[in-house]
Amino acid sequence: MTELEKKGKAALVPSGWDYAPAPESREIVRIDERYGHFVGGEWLEPRETYTTIAPASEEPLAEVGQATPEEVYGAIATAREAFENGWSGLPGSERAKYLFRIARILQERSREFAVLESLNGGKPIKESRDVDLPLAAAHFFYYAGWADKLEYAFPNRRPRPVGVAGQIIPWNFPLLMLAWKIAPALAAGNTVVLKPAETTPLTALLFCDVVRQAELPAGVVNIVTGDGRAGAAIVEGDVDKIAFTGSTEVGKAIGREVAGSGKRLTLELGGKAANIVFDDCALDQAVEGIVNGIYFNQGHVCCAGSRLFVQESIHDDLVEKLKRRMKTLRVGDPLDKNTDIGAINSRAQLEKIQELVAAGEEEGAEIYQPPCKLPERGYWFAPTVFTNVAQSYRIAQEEIFGPVLSVLTFRTPAEAVEKANNTPYGLSAGIWTEKGSRILWMAERLRAGVVWANTFNRFDPASPFGGYKESGFGREGGRHGLEPYLEFEP
Ligand code: NDP
Repeated sequence: MTELEKKGKAALVPSGWDYAPAPESREIVRIDERYGHFVGGEWLEPRETYTTIAPASEEPLAEVGQATPEEVYGAIATAREAFENGWSGLPGSERAKYLFRIARILQERSREFAVLESLNGGKPIKESRDVDLPLAAAHFFYYAGWADKLEYAFPNRRPRPVGVAGQIIPWNFPLLMLAWKIAPALAAGNTVVLKPAETTPLTALLFCDVVRQAELPAGVVNIVTGDGRAGAAIVEGDVDKIAFTGSTEVGKAIGREVAGSGKRLTLELGGKAANIVFDDCALDQAVEGIVNGIYFNQGHVCCAGSRLFVQESIHDDLVEKLKRRMKTLRVGDPLDKNTDIGAINSRAQLEKIQELVAAGEEEGAEIYQPPCKLPERGYWFAPTVFTNVAQSYRIAQEEIFGPVLSVLTFRTPAEAVEKANNTPYGLSAGIWTEKGSRILWMAERLRAGVVWANTFNRFDPASPFGGYKESGFGREGGRHGLEPYLEFEP
C-alpha cells in the first residue's frame, strides 16, 4: 500500500456532517417587562396591553400596548404639531443630518437589533444580521442623501411634504419595513405615526431608543402598537397619507375606507411570484436561486418565488437537484448561526400554511419534505416542495406565505409568460437563462413590478419596489419612493 493510500484510508470522510450548535448570545439585548406607546418623544402608559412572544419557543417576551383609537388620534395630533412647528420648515440638509445619524446608530447597534428581530419574529439570525439590518441602515443612508436634493430629484415641480403619514407594517421584515416607511417620509419633510404588526413590535420599540439617541425632534416619529384595530384607527385618523404593507384583503379594506377622503395611499400587498427556469441556465446556480427564492425567511416574503416554472426537458434533473439541496437545509433555533429556516411567525400563520398544504395534497399534487426533526415547542414547518401541480390548484393560486414551493412546467417562452401571468398578483418574477435577449423579451411581458434575472430576492434602497394588480400600487425605494410623500406645486 502506498503512503497516499494509507493516508486516504485513515482520513475517511465522516458519514454525517453534523453542525455543532452556534447560538448567538441574547445578552446584548435588554427587553423591558412592559412597553407603552412612543408619542412626542415620551413613553405613554398604555390603557390596554397584550403579551408578545418568541415564536420559536412560545416564551413570553414583554407586555406591549394595545392602542385605543383615542391613543392613536393623540399620536396623530402630536405628529401634526411636530410637522407644523418645525420639522416641515427645517432645511433638507438639517433633516439629512438626523437620517445619517439614525443610519449610523443602526449600524453600531446592529447586533442588538438582529438578535431581537430573530427572537421576536423567528427568522434566522444570519438573515436578520446579514440582510434586514444592513438594508435597514442602507435605506436611512440612501434617503438621507436625497433630503437636501428634492428640487433636483423633481426638477421644476417645487416639491413640498404632504404632512402626517400613517404607516402600517407587517411582521415578516419588521425593522426593514419600518426603514422603508420612515426614511423616505422624513427625508421629504413629513412626520409619522407607525404601527408595527401585533406579533413583532419589539424592534420598532427599540428603534424609539435610536430616535432619542439621534436627538430627532420630539413628535417627528411616533410608534403605537397593537393589533389591526390600532391600524384601522390610523386609517380613520387625521393623517394626510397612508402607507400600508400587508395582506391584499386588508389592503382592499383600507382602499375602500380611504376612497374619497383625499388621503394619499400606497399599498404593498401579497404576491405569488413566478420563478422561471429555462433549459440553458446554469442549473446549480438556479437551484440556489430557487432555494433562496422560497425558503428565505421561511417563505414569509411577499415577493417569494413560490411558483417554480421549469422548462419540461430539465424538470426531472432540476427537481432531483432541488430535493438533494433541500436535505441540507437546517431548520431550528433562529438564534443559531447555522440555521437556514427558523420559526413560523405565529400560530395563525402556521395554521394557514398547514391548511393550504393539506389542500395541495387533496387536489393531487405530490409532496416532498426532507427528513428533519422539528423542535417540540414553538411554530415550525419543514421546507416543502410540490410537484405535479396544476395551475388551478390552490397552492398555485393563493399566497401561502410559508416555505412551500409549487413546481409547474412549460415548453416555450410564450407559454411561460402566459402561465406566469395567470395570477391575480404581480409583485415579482425571476428568469433563469444564459440568453440576455430572452431575459429582455420575458421581462417586457411579465406583469410584475420587479423582475430578477439569474438571481432572486435582491434588494437595494436605490431600486423601486412595488406591484401590479392585486399586489398593490405605488413604489417604495429609489427616487420613486419619495414621490408619495411629496406634493408638487402647480
Ligand atoms: P395583515 O394585512 O392583517 O397585517 C398587516 C398589518 O396591517 C399589520 O400591522 C396588521 O396588524 C394591520 N392590520 C390588520 N387589520 C387592519 C385593518 N383593518 N386596518 C388597518 N390595519 C390593519 O396581514 P396578516 O398578518 O393577517 O397576514 C395574513 C396574510 O397576509 C399572510 O398570510 C400573507 O399571505 C399576507 N401578508 C403579506 C405581507 C406582505 O409583505 N405583502 C405581509 C404580511 C402578510 P396586526 O398585525 O395586528 O394584524
